[in-house]
Amino acid sequence: HSGFDAKAARADFPILHQVVNGHPLIWLDNAATTQKPNAVIDRLSAFYRHENSNIHRAAHELAARATDAYEGAREKTRRFLKAASVDEIIFVRGSTEGINLVAQSWGRGNIRAGDEIIITWLEHHANIVPWQMLCAEKGAKLKVVPVDNDGQVILEEYEKLLSDRTKLVSFTQVSNALGTVTPAQQMVAMARRYGAHVLVDGAQAVSHMPVDVQALDCDWYVLSGHKVFGPTGIGVVYGKQSVLENSPAWQGGGNMIKDVTFEKTEYQPSPARFEAGTGNIADAVGLGAAFDYLERLGMENVARHEHDLLTYATLRLSEIQGLRIIGTAKEKAGVVSFVLDGIKVEQVGQALNRKGIAVRAGHHCAQPILRRFGLEATVRPSLALYNTFSDIDALTQAVREIRAETLPTL
Ligand code: PMP
Repeated sequence: HSGFDAKAARADFPILHQVVNGHPLIWLDNAATTQKPNAVIDRLSAFYRHENSNIHRAAHELAARATDAYEGAREKTRRFLKAASVDEIIFVRGSTEGINLVAQSWGRGNIRAGDEIIITWLEHHANIVPWQMLCAEKGAKLKVVPVDNDGQVILEEYEKLLSDRTKLVSFTQVSNALGTVTPAQQMVAMARRYGAHVLVDGAQAVSHMPVDVQALDCDWYVLSGHKVFGPTGIGVVYGKQSVLENSPAWQGGGNMIKDVTFEKTEYQPSPARFEAGTGNIADAVGLGAAFDYLERLGMENVARHEHDLLTYATLRLSEIQGLRIIGTAKEKAGVVSFVLDGIKVEQVGQALNRKGIAVRAGHHCAQPILRRFGLEATVRPSLALYNTFSDIDALTQAVREIRAETLPTL
């Protein structure tokens, strides 16, 4: 055991302490969204009680408080991602909006007919569809790196796809469907040899492991606040300063301009240039509180605890007859996807729900990778720092019971 006190962390999350369908709630749907600690809930409440105002524009006390809180959250985000400057941190609604921002700003300005964009088979739809749209608009080509039978990216095949035509590589650091941790640093370095830009989708990584965007050397890194114990409706795009400086504005409106006449508008530098309109001020502040909370726990400690938990969950689940784990890469984080012989995925999800256990049963917005394994859906328990070994025991026991109830003769 890692020595990390998951039980103590659990006490910080009020929603976990309730009875659902007659059983104590066991939250194993963390890849879909994570629960919020008191530190975040209380920070949101304090913001609305004492600080709420629009930012930047007005010159009065509450505007100053709200601006300090918002810009303070930007600094906390910078520190969490180990970015060089707060000017590299853009607040958006989430990973989906972040990827669309890059596609429409940098992408529209830099991708031309005949160019190639590389993604992997592991991607969430949010890291597929925006690139398909951009390719269709520009006459560019989307190439996809295949994965092996364990669900890991095949680097030799990736190398074969890279060429001088490659303008962008965009891939996930952790697969939301299988839990695969991709060799992100190596993949960025490989892309660099061809002068390609690189976006890393960190939506499923940030809650499980320490992240260092400068060590990764990616051009952009996106995340969703709600998947890292923060509020919904807030997310982050980290962008390298040199890249952001040369990226055109995306949405137009207030906040992102220096000067407007009917003839000509001058834009602000980053990050304001990419934050048109009134932002999600309170939720950014809440996200900052989530990063503070994680800093206190220590992401190294969280990673060690979850590694032990994932190893244990994999071991216990694979002991169940007729259960097949999908995604068996050596490096994994947070997710154990599985199917049960002869029992529908949806049926397993519903049966677990009746026992108070929340998991996702479906395609996880990543249809291509499931189809790579001949499936349309899996059962996906997914972990967070507050999950315990007894949560895994309860899950395993419940799956055994479901199997016994559904297939009494086996
Ligand atoms: N990428 C990955 C890997 C994800 O898991 C998700 C969310 N499931 C997203 C992108 C999209 O995140 P959001 O829905 O918060 O924008």
